[in-house]
Amino acid sequence: MPAHPVNPNDALPVDGWLTRLGKVFLPPRCLVCGEAGADGHDLCAACRDALPWNHACCERCGLPQPERVPACGRCLRKPPPLERVRAAFRYEFPVHQLLPCFKFHQDLAAGRELAEAMRGMLTGDLADVAARPQALIPVPLHPSRLRERGYNQALELARPLARAFDIPLMREALRRTRATAPQSDLGALARRRNPRGAFAVGDVALPAHVALIDDVMTTGATVHECARVLQRAGVQRVEAWVVARVPVRRQKTEDRGQNADAGR
Ligand SMILES: [Zn+2]
Ligand SMILES: [Zn+2]
Repeated sequence: MPAHPVNPNDALPVDGWLTRLGKVFLPPRCLVCGEAGADGHDLCAACRDALPWNHACCERCGLPQPERVPACGRCLRKPPPLERVRAAFRYEFPVHQLLPCFKFHQDLAAGRELAEAMRGMLTGDLADVAARPQALIPVPLHPSRLRERGYNQALELARPLARAFDIPLMREALRRTRATAPQSDLGALARRRNPRGAFAVGDVALPAHVALIDDVMTTGATVHECARVLQRAGVQRVEAWVVARVPVRRQKTEDRGQNADAGR
């Protein structure tokens, strides 16, 4: 399979020529405060600095912690199927507004800034080429949801990362075999159970080390299920790269109907 996707029908020009053209005619505005963007970005310097970066976290599950630790108490007690989680942000203001703009309303400027933040977060980590996964696998949408929305936000985040780090993008590696109820409609327990059996591996040769790409990780049920399916198919190391991790205290709010992980 090709290293990069070739089907133009579901390609969004997140970082393509339309974006560059737009920048020539429309000087960028900050997506948060509306002031002039800094250095060609759609964020001003002050709002960029104030973003809820997730530096202090558990490296295993990505949950925010008082300081950066290799594994938090939860992960030590019950090791998750993911080897590590890299989340650029905590799912808080203004990321909890920018992400839905990108996910549901085709806000390409928001998508571009969020993908760029992921690239920045990963650049130091991936300087050691041996530590790089051998493929990026976007968490798939069910075909019915893809038709509704017209694009898969996880794939659109994965494209620029695959290019930036020269890692093959395997968009056919996972398929969603069942449309799950929007996670926002479910309680915590149902949400954890919901993705069970919803994924299958595609007819492709899988490498030993892969990274799943998704926009937001709430309880982790979706990426954990993807990881289990890939491991059953022989993948040895699975990590997840996401834009934002929902802190535990916020997961309860999300369960009451905010749409962090909604609309699969
Ligand atoms: Zn601003
Ligand atoms: Zn942890």
